[in-house]
Amino acid sequence: MKELSDNQKEILLNSIRTVEDFPKPGIGFKDITTLLGDEKAYTLLMEHLKDRYKNQDIDYVAGIESRGFIFGASLATMLGVKFVPIRKPGKLPYTTISEKYSLEYGVDEVEIHIDAFKCKKDKPNVLLIDDLIATGGTAKAAVTLINKAGANCLEACFVINLKFLGGDADIKKITPVYSVLEIN
Ligand code: AMP
Repeated sequence: MKELSDNQKEILLNSIRTVEDFPKPGIGFKDITTLLGDEKAYTLLMEHLKDRYKNQDIDYVAGIESRGFIFGASLATMLGVKFVPIRKPGKLPYTTISEKYSLEYGVDEVEIHIDAFKCKKDKPNVLLIDDLIATGGTAKAAVTLINKAGANCLEACFVINLKFLGGDADIKKITPVYSVLEIN
């Protein structure tokens, strides 16, 4: 499957702003709103993801709240597949299943509707997407939820991997991982 050239990666990296000490001291927050506000960079990213996943027999794109919704919903429409939101607790109105996880800064939980992947297929293929992988806790919990809900997580995709935190190693044990950009 396709990857970006170094030059294209540079365009994307330059479009992402780092905000120091947000939301608490010591965190270098990767702000993707500047990427979204740069039509050249945003289009480059989304066309790349479409190219990578268009022939992969994906039935659903699942996005993690909240920035995973932006990339995930855009990609789902580009691929012509369904979108499923993976949300923070108490946000989804119907019966849910949930999974706890630890953040780079705190503890949280993710939820999915119990019937999120109800379709004609016995075990539909799901592409999981989020903006960033830090410790990997959120994505690991999300993959577990996808499997619990009766689907198959084909790959977990991230715009940015904070490689120095090593969060991808844990997720690779349960599903393939693709990061568009790696920050060492
Ligand atoms: P983790 O579970 O530690 O991999 O955290 C990943 C989630 O937290 C993603 O949904 C990110 O949006 C958010 N996150 C964690 N660390 C950062 C960071 N340094 N910059 C931007 N977002 C972050």
